Amino acid sequence: MLPALTQLLQVQERDQRILKFQKDLKDIPLHQARARTQLAGDQAAVEKATQVVKETEVKIKSIELDIQTRQNTIKRLQDQQFETRKNDEFAALGHEIQRYQGDVRTLEDSELEQMEALEAAKAGLKTAQDKLAETQARVNDELKALDERATGIQARLTEIQKERGELAAPVDPDTLELYTRIFSKKSDAVVAIENGVCGGCHVKVVSSTIQSLRQGTSITQCDSCGRIVYLIE
Ligand SMILES: [Zn+2]
Repeated sequence: MLPALTQLLQVQERDQRILKFQKDLKDIPLHQARARTQLAGDQAAVEKATQVVKETEVKIKSIELDIQTRQNTIKRLQDQQFETRKNDEFAALGHEIQRYQGDVRTLEDSELEQMEALEAAKAGLKTAQDKLAETQARVNDELKALDERATGIQARLTEIQKERGELAAPVDPDTLELYTRIFSKKSDAVVAIENGVCGGCHVKVVSSTIQSLRQGTSITQCDSCGRIVYLIE
């Protein structure tokens, strides 16, 4: 085999690893985004549970206000009752007071119900928050692992790029340029011909290509795809 071919095969091996590492690096943000989507469901559950707590608190406030209003009315009616000297008015006021007191009892019952609902809502929120925290911890671990992976790949990439540079340096510039042009289009530029078939395009090469390879004096390209070829017999 031509020494240039041996050199190119080594360069190509590095170039293919460089491509693979570059792709792996490019995929990392996708993996990170995917990891973060795991949080969405738990975050939504926390938001919903928070909303239920808030709504229940508002209901309780509103009931308390209703109770306060009725108690003020009761107080006012009792004052009126205290001041009146007419028996029928006294009795009428007494009935009204009882009616408002009945209202207050109903409101207090419903306040109690809402207080229980609030306890349940708070427990629900706590459960949702715990689950989110658990998922967050797992996602953080995944993100950290991905960061470490990216750092590792980057280090390896730098190393291989250096190696590639050293391996490419002694290659004849025209040959290297030809190789680079083909590699940039096809991701492999140097392929074997086996049983007369090009390993790149899988087309049978013409006999002059085989002859040229047997002479082994110059770089030979596949007549179909243009890749640089070498012979396996
Ligand atoms: Zn070919």
